[in-house]
Amino acid sequence: MTTAQTFQTAPYRAPTGTIPAVEPTNLFADDKVGQAYFAHTLGAAGFDKYRGHFDRLGEAGRESFELAALADRNPPTLRTHSPQGDRIDAVDYHASYRHMEVLAYGGGIVGAKFTGDLVGADRAIRHGVGFGAGYYFAQVESGMYCPICMTDGVARILEMHTPADPFGRDVAQRTIAHLATRDRAELWRGAMFLTEIQGGSDVGANAVVAKPDADAFGGYRLFGDKWFCSNVDAEAILALARLPDAPAGTRGLGLFLVLRHEPTGNFKNIRIHRLKPKFGTRSMPTGEVTLEGAEAVLIGGVNQGFKMMADMLNLSRLYNAVASVAGAKRALFEAARYGEGRRAFGEKLWDLPLWRAVVADMAAEQFAGFVLTFETVRSLDRADTGDAEGAKLARILTPIAKATMGKLAVALASEAVETVGGNGYIEESPLPRVLRDNQVLPIWEGTTNILSLDTLRAVGKEQAHEALFGRIREAIRAGVKAAGGGTEAVQPRAQAELLRAALEDLGARLGTLAADPALAQRLARGWLEDAGRLTSQALLFELAGTATDPLLAWTAADALARVHLRPQFATPFAATASAGLTATEPRLLAYAAAR
Ligand SMILES: Cc1cc2nc3c(=O)[nH]c(=O)nc-3n(C[C@H](O)[C@H](O)[C@H](O)COP(=O)(O)OP(=O)(O)OC[C@H]3O[C@@H](n4cnc5c(N)ncnc54)[C@H](O)[C@@H]3O)c2cc1C
Repeated sequence: MTTAQTFQTAPYRAPTGTIPAVEPTNLFADDKVGQAYFAHTLGAAGFDKYRGHFDRLGEAGRESFELAALADRNPPTLRTHSPQGDRIDAVDYHASYRHMEVLAYGGGIVGAKFTGDLVGADRAIRHGVGFGAGYYFAQVESGMYCPICMTDGVARILEMHTPADPFGRDVAQRTIAHLATRDRAELWRGAMFLTEIQGGSDVGANAVVAKPDADAFGGYRLFGDKWFCSNVDAEAILALARLPDAPAGTRGLGLFLVLRHEPTGNFKNIRIHRLKPKFGTRSMPTGEVTLEGAEAVLIGGVNQGFKMMADMLNLSRLYNAVASVAGAKRALFEAARYGEGRRAFGEKLWDLPLWRAVVADMAAEQFAGFVLTFETVRSLDRADTGDAEGAKLARILTPIAKATMGKLAVALASEAVETVGGNGYIEESPLPRVLRDNQVLPIWEGTTNILSLDTLRAVGKEQAHEALFGRIREAIRAGVKAAGGGTEAVQPRAQAELLRAALEDLGARLGTLAADPALAQRLARGWLEDAGRLTSQALLFELAGTATDPLLAWTAADALARVHLRPQFATPFAATASAGLTATEPRLLAYAAAR
């Protein structure tokens, strides 16, 4: 008897067909509510004009369902040396990832934002179209959405802050053309090297240095270690480095463009030590790097570098929020489609009252988050076209949307795994990958704490809350005016009163935040969360009243009816902090650390 025969105790059991298969689909073409939303916010003519772009990226997503799973199972690897023993520091990707690059970049996920009318007559909806279409690809492949974000971000910074000198201008313009191309052979992908080993939140502590060198391409060389470098083999990198004799803190940081292949062989000065073994986003390489005299072009000097980088950070925070609502939507989609086919107690899950109530709550939260996120996108479009109020709104909505949506993405993916049940926990389902991928969203580009403190700064230093409060009031007014007698789900006058009372409370709490800085830090998460929830509710109220598409109006009303009953959702930890609770911290923290 052979070993195989010894252990072959049970016959193969054929599948019974009781586990439903969720088939790949074009998530844009199937999203009737999303289509109505984009027609409403971009204008019917604008949406019609760019509908093909949305559809193309939805189709790229459909083609990527299986490719994304393959790329996750076959992560990139680092090849440090050539067979001849030369240092090459190259990254090898699985063919599935390369194919998705062709689908996404070739579909214009970045390029569309830098060509045609989106940089001309339609500039006012540039981000609305770019992020709107990208949302459908991001639902399928979030690992690559990070490099896409940075490719767009590097192009944006070079466009906004093109160096004045002819050499710098030429480098910037050529780089933008490569970043925006749809031809994969010509494409340069972007990256952002910011975080160092001593900490990512406190960028002012950064120690990588820039040394002037008249013989170097761009006049500088960078030296030092960067600890988290996603898309590590990118061709166009923005890096922060401390300038000679510069002041301490963020003011002394310069912003530099490092091109991997300009001058030829510059990659030899960018030593990649290893790719990090990550919990999620495994399709994309995040490396640890030492800059060993990388030749660099100065984009912004003392007092300027970090401010310019903040423009990229804000864009990538918005990408993060879009990736979050996309990741949450994918989780929801998988759970809902599964429930249409799976049976329990003689019925489809879809028909079981409690299962339906759970999924409806998840959908309400996702839709509320979607509306908040795309309002933030609209505010960036307003800011970019010279609207000062829009700029203030973007300033405060960006950290709020990024923080709350990152949390939502994790919570919804986790709930979706349970909603599917045991089969959702198995790696053959996309849900474990979605959960792992979503878990980076609250961390990367600023954690919830850092964004809460940033929101305090936006309030205290820039009074950005005034623009937010103004927008909330406008939404309430529009909702009441348009809603007439109301719907079954929303009674406009009563709802408007609730929203106004919540706004008053939010405003009243600002006094406490201003009075006591230490207490303000403890209260910051709660204020951010409440501000985000109130904004989404006001926007849903407005949409329920003003959307001409009945499906959109009803979906907004239904979502509002459920969301407004739950005061806090995304960031329960520290959301209910108060001065009185401070005294409970020493013992509880000691208990936490087993001290
Ligand atoms: C997969 C992945 C990819 C990444 N890619 C990149 C990249 O491409 N480029 C890049 O530059 N960085 C990248 N990062 C780094 C990321 O931006 C940082 O991890 C993040 O900014 C947090 O920094 P840190 O990890 O050093 O945490 P720390 O700064 O050490 O913070 C640790 C904890 O302390 C909290 N904390 C810090 N300060 C305060 C405070 N004042 N009050 C209250 N709490 C505080 C934080 O909220 C956090 O919870 C990546 C990270 C990951 C996980």
